[in-house]
Amino acid sequence: MSLQFDPNTLPGDGLDIQGSLPPSFFDLAENDQARPVTPLEYNLHVSKDEDGELFVTGEVSATFELHCGRCLEPFQLRIEQTDFAHQIPMENGTPDLTNLLREDILLALPTYPRCETGNVTPRECPAEGRFDSPTEPSGDEAPDASGKNTWEALDQLTNLKKN
Ligand SMILES: [Zn+2]
Repeated sequence: MSLQFDPNTLPGDGLDIQGSLPPSFFDLAENDQARPVTPLEYNLHVSKDEDGELFVTGEVSATFELHCGRCLEPFQLRIEQTDFAHQIPMENGTPDLTNLLREDILLALPTYPRCETGNVTPRECPAEGRFDSPTEPSGDEAPDASGKNTWEALDQLTNLKKN
């Protein structure tokens, strides 16, 4: 499965290519934390500059099912790259856009998915606030807060020694 074209047939004002690639295009493992649930849709413009270098710009999108890192429930996230822009690597004369599309979308997936960021079916994370008690720092602030507390504790120890 690939998306190739012949640069020799590229018109002077460029080439518009659009279509879709099935979810299997992403070639993700069954146990991967992200599962594509729609085809990848692309709407691209390929152009050539004076130096003969090829560029592709446009939009790519696909919807994934992810699992929330907080409540562990599945949710859907639509990735839309509206400013897709790449120089096309020349490989044996027939550039293949497949990897560019695949990587651009996959790199846009969140490392720490949160279901409240889902943009297909808006929802509140049922686990939101569960850890936000005064005695337990919330997930995002934990490293800073604990680091600060450690330093404060050290300061107090130093002060005690001085006294
Ligand atoms: Zn959640």
